[in-house]
Amino acid sequence: MTRAPLLRLRPGTPVLSRGGGQVQCGSDPRWSFVLSGLTAAEETWLGEVAERRHVTVEQAAARCGVPAERRDEIMTALFRAGVLVPVPRSVGAVTAPADGAADATVLGMLRPDGAGLATLADRARRTVGVVGLGRVGTGIAQQLATAGVGRLVLHDPLPAQVTDLAAGGLRSGDVGRARHDAVRSLLAERAPRMTVRVDDDVAGPDPAELDVVVVTEPHAAHPARYRRLLGLGVPHLPVVVREADMVVGPFVRPGLSACVTCVDLARADADREWPALATQLRTAAEPTHEATLAAVAAATAAGQVLAQLDGHRPAAVGACLEIALPAGLPRARPADPHPRCGCVVLPADGAGTGIT
Ligand SMILES: [Zn+2]
Repeated sequence: MTRAPLLRLRPGTPVLSRGGGQVQCGSDPRWSFVLSGLTAAEETWLGEVAERRHVTVEQAAARCGVPAERRDEIMTALFRAGVLVPVPRSVGAVTAPADGAADATVLGMLRPDGAGLATLADRARRTVGVVGLGRVGTGIAQQLATAGVGRLVLHDPLPAQVTDLAAGGLRSGDVGRARHDAVRSLLAERAPRMTVRVDDDVAGPDPAELDVVVVTEPHAAHPARYRRLLGLGVPHLPVVVREADMVVGPFVRPGLSACVTCVDLARADADREWPALATQLRTAAEPTHEATLAAVAAATAAGQVLAQLDGHRPAAVGACLEIALPAGLPRARPADPHPRCGCVVLPADGAGTGIT
């Protein structure tokens, strides 16, 4: 049997007795499974492994009188099913609240090695830019802080309005302050281990240092705002606020997936007046950020960013996630590379490679 010398039950895995010599590990249909043909001693052993986490799997087997041969046979089955994982080695510093105690177990479920703290340590080394800090942008920053992202760069010099106030967000004393200063103060108080920098450059944060940039915009994403990010190969995510819905996406992996211009060109194909309408929308008043929409959109957008940082494929790659009231459920609309944009054709010099 090929396995690491020291194994433990994957944290967070429920071990359930089904009776008749059957034990079920896990309840999520993606990975739960049933072991059959177990003796009473073996059932007791697996129960102990789940309840007494400080005792090794081997020690528990010996205590319950499970023969070594059967122990190894069952452990092999559990290892192959991903229920037994290596005892984790130490990881780098974690900036998530409570040293990641709330999130490490769940994040570990998404890794073959079960090491959720390693995911959090990796997030602590990442930098995300957040441009536009109304309710939804502030919510995204807060979500990323709670999720343990190490550094944020904020940009939104506009003064905070009363419509930006939210429970857990900006407070009445923040009205009139530059939004990025108010949000920085909020995060300094709530997430003191995270580094937060404000960028006063009207062009936005310096993209070179950023792993991902999120841009919140009213009415319609403006392709010109994203050209620099696209050219520098910085993954980015527009979040567009409309009358009674918000659109998260597409998540742009430069050179690899549809960009903001691709979506704009497709819209112009469907409605030849779109360019004229978009021009008018860019001078229209910013819609307010309704509380439920802002919360769902912020969580959805933060989830896309975290998927990217954690090495997963964000659902908004090649899609716009539309969240409309009253349902408030994200609905994916495909966003394909547009032939007239050409952004997914990698240049001959190889620029754009290395983006994951
Ligand atoms: Zn494009």
